[in-house]
Amino acid sequence: MTVDVLYIKKVKCPICNSEFSTSKMRTTKVRVDRVDGDFMNHYKSENPLKYQVFVCPKCGYSALENRFNNIRPAEREIIKKEVSSKWKEREYSGPRTEDDAIQCYMLAFYCGQLIGLKNYELGNIALKIGWFFRTKESDEEMRFLQNAVELFEQAFYKEDLLSLSTDEITLGYLIGELHRRLGRKKEAISWFGKTVSNPLVKTNPRIENLAREQWLLAKENENEE
Ligand SMILES: [Zn+2]
Repeated sequence: MTVDVLYIKKVKCPICNSEFSTSKMRTTKVRVDRVDGDFMNHYKSENPLKYQVFVCPKCGYSALENRFNNIRPAEREIIKKEVSSKWKEREYSGPRTEDDAIQCYMLAFYCGQLIGLKNYELGNIALKIGWFFRTKESDEEMRFLQNAVELFEQAFYKEDLLSLSTDEITLGYLIGELHRRLGRKKEAISWFGKTVSNPLVKTNPRIENLAREQWLLAKENENEE
């Protein structure tokens, strides 16, 4: 990877107030090769997702960039008590390997659980960990897809999806596709069916097509058994 793919961003930690550097990927350098049914992009270039978690090297507070500063006083105390007090200084400021990225996302998942992130947000972190394992062709992927689908199902029934910038069509489809990848055809078929029969699906032709395609795929595989 050439150096100019990444640039350094200075960040101030909202927990310990120290300033640190983190790498980000230049959006003009991103090249997508193909996309899997669960929206995982495979890149010809470096993977920009690796850099979306900020990790404070001084105190260990970790979160996705878009909610790093979004923390309340009570949550700050929780992070200080549960994370910072046990943290050994280490940093992820430079280029990240898949394993580095997995560690960063695991830290963000742990901090997110402590401060009570929504199930949908935690599910997204788990899904991305699963994707990094897919890149590594590791069976660990399935453990994190399982984790993600459980969190997404909770979110589907309990959370205000529109405020989380998703909707019941997209999330219902994704739940179906994760079940399909986990080998649970009955659940997959049920979620795809629920998605294509929802009147709202007409507002999202891309998801409607995907749901129909993956639904057929799940059914075909069912008949083979
Ligand atoms: Zn900090």
